[in-house]
Amino acid sequence: MRAVIVGGGIAGLATAWWLRRAGWESTVVEHHRTPHGVVDTDAAAEGVIPGGYVIDFFGPGYDSIEAMGLRDRLRSHDLRLEGIQYRATNGRRTARMGTDATQRMGGGRLVSMLRGNLELILREALGPGADVRHGLSVARVEQDPDGVTVELTDGTVERADLLVGADGVHSRVRELVFGPEERYRRYLGAHTAAFLFEDPEVVRAVGRELHMVEAPRVQAGVYGLTGTTGATFLCHLSPEGSMPSDPRARLREVYAGMGWYLPRLLEACPPKPFYDEVEQIEVPTWSRSRVVLVGDACQAVSLMAGQGASMAVAAAEVLGRELGGAGPSEAEIGAALSRYEGRVKPVIETKQAAGRRLARWFVPASATRMLVRRQLLRLASTPLADRVARPFLASPKLTPERERA
Ligand SMILES: Cc1cc2nc3c(=O)[nH]c(=O)nc-3n(C[C@H](O)[C@H](O)[C@H](O)COP(=O)(O)OP(=O)(O)OC[C@H]3O[C@@H](n4cnc5c(N)ncnc54)[C@H](O)[C@@H]3O)c2cc1C
Repeated sequence: MRAVIVGGGIAGLATAWWLRRAGWESTVVEHHRTPHGVVDTDAAAEGVIPGGYVIDFFGPGYDSIEAMGLRDRLRSHDLRLEGIQYRATNGRRTARMGTDATQRMGGGRLVSMLRGNLELILREALGPGADVRHGLSVARVEQDPDGVTVELTDGTVERADLLVGADGVHSRVRELVFGPEERYRRYLGAHTAAFLFEDPEVVRAVGRELHMVEAPRVQAGVYGLTGTTGATFLCHLSPEGSMPSDPRARLREVYAGMGWYLPRLLEACPPKPFYDEVEQIEVPTWSRSRVVLVGDACQAVSLMAGQGASMAVAAAEVLGRELGGAGPSEAEIGAALSRYEGRVKPVIETKQAAGRRLARWFVPASATRMLVRRQLLRLASTPLADRVARPFLASPKLTPERERA
C-alpha cells in the first residue's frame, strides 16, 4: 500500500514513520527547498530561518515519541530553560515563574526545544532511504474507487492508495479537496512572529530564562539558544485577520514603544521573519474517500493552547495504527480513517475550547488584566496552582498503552 504525504513537517514525517511501520510505502512532498536544519543559502539571505521558534513539547506527542524509541534524541534538544521572567516595557521585572513548576505539572515529561529540531529528529528516524522530495507541492488531486492520482508542481504524477494532507494551517490539500481556508479557520484575534538573532551580549543577559516583556495588547519573549544565538517570540492583538504586506515593518511599528533590549532586536529582525495569524482550524470531517488530513491542517489548536506539535505527532500515530489494519479497498480505508477521526477529534475539540478560553489571558488587552495575570503567575509555584493547571496540561492518551504493547 502506498501513500503520498504532502508536508514534510512534524505531522507529515511522523505519519510516514508510522505508515512505514504498518508496512506502507510513502512519498513525502515538502515545499521548502531544503530539510530543516540544513541552511538554504538563498532563503537565509532573505532572513528565513526555518524552525525558528521554541515549543514546549509534552503530553500525548511525548508518549508517541517514546513509543518510536526517540525519547533520548528528543531530550538531547532540550533547551533546559530555568524560568520565565515577566518584565515591564522599561525592563523592570514584574513576576517570575521557575520551570520546576511547569516540569512538575508535566510530570517531568516536558521538553522546550526548537520546532525545527523536532522535525530533524523525525526526519533522521525515517532514515536516508526515505522518499522525501523537497521544493515541491501538490497541483491537482483526482480520486476514483481504486486510488488517488496526485499531480505535483513539477508535473510528475503519483498514483497511491491514500493522499495525506499534512501541510499545516494553510493546507493546500485541504484547499484542493475540502475547500477554501475561510470555511475552516477561526481567527483568535492575534498575530505572532518569531526570529533568531546573533547577539552575544543579549544572550548573556537573558541566561537560561525566557524573558517576556509585556504591555497591554503586546508581548515579546526573548531567550538564548547557544552562546551567541537567541530567539524571539512575539505576539500582539490585532483586530484584522489578515497578513501585513511587510511583516518586519509591522513588527517595528507595533513594538515601537517597548524598551529593554527590544529596539535592538527589532533592528536585527530579518526581512522575512516567521509571521502568521493565530488561528484554529475546525474541519467537520477529516477525510474525503482516499484523502485525509492530519496535524494543523485539520486540528490546529493554536499557540494559545500550546500543544499543536504534540497533538500532530500523537494523531499521526493513531492514523498509522488504524491504517495498519486496513486493506486497500475504499471501504476499508474509509473505515480506518473514520476510526482515526473518532479517536482524535474529541480530544482536539477540548484542547481548542481550552485555547479559546486562555486567549484573553495569553496577551492581556488591558493593564488590569495584566495585573491579574501577574498575580496568578506569582501563585504559579504553589501546590494549588499545580492542581488548577494540571488538568489543562493533561490530555487523555490518544493511544492506550495496551495497544502499544
Ligand atoms: C509561535 C508558535 C508557538 C508554538 N508553540 C507550541 C508549543 O509550545 N507546543 C506545541 O506542541 N506546539 C506549539 N505550536 C504549534 C506547532 O508548531 C504546530 O501545531 C505544529 O508545527 C503542527 O505541525 P504540522 O506538521 O501539522 O504543521 P507544520 O509544522 O506547519 O508543518 C507543515 C509542513 O508542510 C509544509 N507545507 C506547507 N504547505 C505546503 C504545500 N502546499 N506543499 C508542500 N508542503 C507544504 C511546510 O513547509 C511544513 O514543513 C506553536 C506554534 C507557533 C506558531
